Amino acid sequence: MTTPDAPALPLRPELADEVPYGAPQLDVPVRLNVNENPYPPSEAVVATIAEHVAQAARGLNRYPDRDFDALRDDLASYLAVESGARLDRSQVWAANGSNEVMLHLLQAFGGPGRTAVSFAPTYSMYPEYARDTHTRWVTGRRAEDFTIDTAAAVALIEAERPSVVLLASPNNPTGTALDTRTVEAVLEAATRVPAVVVVDEAYAEFRREGTPSALALLDRYPLLAVTRTMSKAFAAAGLRLGYLAASSELVDALRVVRLPYHLSAVTQATARAALAHRGSLLAQVADLRAGRDELVAWLRAQRVDGRPLRVADTDANFALFGTFDDRHAVWQGLLDRGVLVRETGPAGWLRVSVGTPAENQAFKDALTDVIGEK
Ligand SMILES: *Cc1c(COP(=O)(O)O)cnc(C)c1O
Repeated sequence: MTTPDAPALPLRPELADEVPYGAPQLDVPVRLNVNENPYPPSEAVVATIAEHVAQAARGLNRYPDRDFDALRDDLASYLAVESGARLDRSQVWAANGSNEVMLHLLQAFGGPGRTAVSFAPTYSMYPEYARDTHTRWVTGRRAEDFTIDTAAAVALIEAERPSVVLLASPNNPTGTALDTRTVEAVLEAATRVPAVVVVDEAYAEFRREGTPSALALLDRYPLLAVTRTMSKAFAAAGLRLGYLAASSELVDALRVVRLPYHLSAVTQATARAALAHRGSLLAQVADLRAGRDELVAWLRAQRVDGRPLRVADTDANFALFGTFDDRHAVWQGLLDRGVLVRETGPAGWLRVSVGTPAENQAFKDALTDVIGEK
């Protein structure tokens, strides 16, 4: 039914040409496009989650624990085991994915007349948080190898005087982890402004031996927030649970902007059950890291148009590889063979997530085929 004189939607003008964010969700045999952990939870974990959810269901007439204290305790103990961080529940925050955690950060520390800074190529959701909170968005460039030049980063922060700096480490879509000296230099510069520094560690559990976590810097830098998620290594992307560690003062600021009861009783129960089974859910991380290193070595041995493929060094569960004169044709060629990767990042590059050994093999076979055709 059409209404001939329907009024125009009074949409914010800056949203007029915007489209919803998201990779294509296509039903193909091998999905290596959104960096999920390819291993579903075991039946034992499923049974525990079901029990906890049933328990939560018995109280669904009531609002959930607004401050999710038990879940924050569980997250703090997980970080103690994973990174040796000693945190009180008042230093932990959580929301529906780390995407929502970062939106809370921009709601509290960005806003009209304020600036957020990051270094591209990086996670494509960051400019959306800025847009949605009316925060000015400024990016510096990463170096040719996708690391961040420390002096240039400090100079940009001094020139732009942001209230928020976003650093992904390991970075998406490049896989690049930052060294501690770069993060410290950014934190020193940010402290002088002052700006909150968000280190987005969505892929932290996949980092290579010797790559540090920014959690180790929390004691020294009260403006630091380290975000994590259960979507990637934890094999729980469908749960929607992201979290952060920071000073309790910073967390208190996030409590002001969150919607009341933003974490449902079902989410809290599921997340707690998953954390109780962390050994099982994280069991495949070592295999995925080994699969990643093997995939990177294989890709680097391939040649396209007479030159070796380039692969960015990666501490995550994916690899950025290229470059192709026509990356869309390669993406489409892989899809035609039942393998979905992500067409993202700088021109000419593609990103592939690490899957099961069978999925990695299917990707290699398809790519060999596609490259051989050229
Ligand atoms: C996947 C990803 C996230 C996690 O998002 P969730 O909302 O927790 O699922 C955060 N940051 C980066 C850079 C990512 O790639």
